[in-house]
Amino acid sequence: MSVKSPGDFRPETLAVAYGYDPAQALGAVKPPVYLSSTFIYPSAQHAKDVHCAYFDNEGPLVGESNHIYARLGHPGLDILESRLAAIDGAEAAAAFASGMAAHSSIALAFVRPGDSVVHGRPIYGGVDMLYGTVMSEFGAAVETYTDGTDPANVRAAAAAAMAKGSLALIVAETPANPTAALVDLDLMVAIADEVAAQQGRRPLVVVDNTLLGPFAQRPIEHGVDLCLTSLTKYCAGHSDLLAGGISGRLDLIARLRMLRTTWGNHCDPFTAWLVVRSLESASVRIERAMSNARIVAEFLRDHPKVAGVTYLGFLEQGTPARAVYDRQCKGAGSTFSFHLHGGEAELFRMLDRLRLAKLAVSLGGSETLICHSATTTHYAVPRDLRIAGGITDGTMRLSIGLEHPDDLVADLAQALEAV
Ligand SMILES: *Cc1c(COP(=O)(O)O)cnc(C)c1O
Repeated sequence: MSVKSPGDFRPETLAVAYGYDPAQALGAVKPPVYLSSTFIYPSAQHAKDVHCAYFDNEGPLVGESNHIYARLGHPGLDILESRLAAIDGAEAAAAFASGMAAHSSIALAFVRPGDSVVHGRPIYGGVDMLYGTVMSEFGAAVETYTDGTDPANVRAAAAAAMAKGSLALIVAETPANPTAALVDLDLMVAIADEVAAQQGRRPLVVVDNTLLGPFAQRPIEHGVDLCLTSLTKYCAGHSDLLAGGISGRLDLIARLRMLRTTWGNHCDPFTAWLVVRSLESASVRIERAMSNARIVAEFLRDHPKVAGVTYLGFLEQGTPARAVYDRQCKGAGSTFSFHLHGGEAELFRMLDRLRLAKLAVSLGGSETLICHSATTTHYAVPRDLRIAGGITDGTMRLSIGLEHPDDLVADLAQALEAV
């Protein structure tokens, strides 16, 4: 039996069951890895029909699994994309070679010279560089907001952007990494509507949902146009591949897929297979990582050598951020930061003493990772900007994994003795 109608099931069920029919592969319960760069045409007429369907979006083969060449599409990509769309509650999805390939593709597909873009800060370093450096070389202006829960702050950034050119994109990453600053998705959609009334063109609202993932935060349900996920992180969840996904309206996704044929940055067959396999257990892994994270965050909050913990689960009642959290998030995630008293020498001693938590960038894997933000992920950010953004010299980012929480707490406790 295959699950045919996504509307009948919850995201956790769709992650296990949707997008693959065993009848398509000799009854195999699991999809095969389709390692083929090219696909046979059963007849010359079929060859013509399949090209007509692909390039003109008409003809008899639209919507069926008819392939030409793996860069245009392949069976593993079909399974991954239909599953991702179903999980996100979107009309369609497109998968890319990495999260940054997905971000770059949105920029190249929807921003033109003379346009402007608004995004929040802090934002993933690669996205900051994409809009601040790369797209500005193509003549696109950028403006930023620093409080994505404050209508006046976001409106001011949108007005400043419109003064420079037609606003094409409103980009939000929420929660931000590593400060856990939240962006109000309903506010982003409302401001896109306001901008549409002013400039006659509605900007697309793009949300990077990597940090909480598709089960704990559901951007499409808030009316955003495109939901982007670095599948490298929680969705794949084992720190062993790179991939990115974008879910959204069919017309937008169709444009991204068509252009991907030219850019050649699709998700390859083996990676697509690995991601589909990993999505099956993603909700369970994320739940466990989140419950571990709460235990570790509580331990750190109460530790005398810790100056503070930036963890969504500790947002105070009555604050705008807490109101957004309650409306928008189903969990506090498992990536957060804590701030230590002390200088580089003590901090490095503590890091070098860890036996279980591994010293590495990235997040969302089965293993717990830790890094000192100032000297790794934010190395290239000038110190005053970094500190203004909430990342002190003592900030450590933790991505909590699936180990037993008592072992994680014991490891951190023994290492903190070095501070
Ligand atoms: C890692 C990450 C990306 C980039 O994803 P890659 O798969 O590494 O290219 C984008 N946004 C966020 C929030 C990330 O954590």
